[in-house]
Amino acid sequence: MTTRDECLALDASDPFAGLRDEFLLREGEIYLDGNSLGPVSKSVQRRVAEVIDTEWAQGLVRSWNAAGWMDAPLRLGHRLAPLIGAREGEVLVADSLTFLLAKIIGGSLELKTERHVVITDAVNFHSDLYIVAAMARLAGRDIVVKNIDRDTLREHLDEDVALVMLTHVDFRTGEMLDLAGITADVHAVGALMLWDFAHSAGAVPLDVTGADVDFAAGCGYKYLNGGPGAPAFMYVAPRWHGVLRNPLPGWLGHARPFDFEPTYESAPGMRAYVTSSPSVIALGALEGALDVWDRTTMAEVRVKSLALTDLFISLVEEALPGVFELVTPREHSRRGSQVAIRHDQGYGVVQALIDRGVIGDFRAPDICRFGFTPLYLRYVDVYDAVRILVDVMTTSAYLDESFAVRLAVT
Ligand SMILES: *Cc1c(COP(=O)(O)O)cnc(C)c1O
Repeated sequence: MTTRDECLALDASDPFAGLRDEFLLREGEIYLDGNSLGPVSKSVQRRVAEVIDTEWAQGLVRSWNAAGWMDAPLRLGHRLAPLIGAREGEVLVADSLTFLLAKIIGGSLELKTERHVVITDAVNFHSDLYIVAAMARLAGRDIVVKNIDRDTLREHLDEDVALVMLTHVDFRTGEMLDLAGITADVHAVGALMLWDFAHSAGAVPLDVTGADVDFAAGCGYKYLNGGPGAPAFMYVAPRWHGVLRNPLPGWLGHARPFDFEPTYESAPGMRAYVTSSPSVIALGALEGALDVWDRTTMAEVRVKSLALTDLFISLVEEALPGVFELVTPREHSRRGSQVAIRHDQGYGVVQALIDRGVIGDFRAPDICRFGFTPLYLRYVDVYDAVRILVDVMTTSAYLDESFAVRLAVT
């Protein structure tokens, strides 16, 4: 069994030790929910203050040009690109994830008009399910959306399939899918592949170029730490630039927005997927958050992420045998950067932990979910979190009736 001293020794030699100081974390609290909302970094504070105090307050309307506000969606896309294995000019930062999925789905359905089937995962995130169904209805032809068991994907792939949309790391279980293998299977029948990276970007190494992905999109506010409601990002493979249309065109995706032309002509490259005015302060927060990512690589992040999740799993299983069911795969190749454990009183367990300063979250019906974020989480935090979990379980604190009432955000 790993001891607390061993964890402290791991922290002392941890290459990420200096990065933790970049984050504003509350003393005595262990934050295992960076997969839902990343914490604030000092670079975010600095950049947001600069946007407000200098660019907005002093520059006012001139800053659209002088401070590069107009180019921020592309500039941030460029900075984010290495985190997903993309190159310059292939990533845009804009809107929020569901909107970007809508744009990609809508555009894709126009590319494959001879095909009428769209496949997604029956247990996909609900917003993904809603938007794919809505975009299929709006396509104006008979499109069938199949919500399948993703393990049976191969059986569903044929010449009728236009688009497959999957979330790469399952938001409940933390299972990671085979990016390159599934993309190749989908391409083998001539269909397009859209990956949702909500729980992948900043969590696991990604290689959209190597995997030959057509389209991808993800959140800015989860592992990337861009702030609540941060703009999202989308990737379009260069072969689809100028081909994939933006189904929600607006003036800032026009080739010449300040010519105020009555008919739409798409801008080249990723700018085509801009619809309207960028949210400059929110982009500033995300830009500040990306400063921290410049100081590491996803390969380094992955090594520590797996070490942290392995440690959590082994400590829970040793201290509380048979109490929880491990839902997240043990195989590293199938694990994201979170651990999900099942308990029929899971909501009470998570609330009792939060009450003791261990912040995780609950996903209905019975999953206790803990995100592991190597930038600021220490090995000793994992150790202490498990000690507190043991206390919650052995004292039955999780059965306290004050934890029975569900809050709006779980
Ligand atoms: C978090 C998450 C979303 C949320 O999207 P927003 O539109 O940015 O609120 C969508 N899909 C998945 C898979 C997610 O995990």
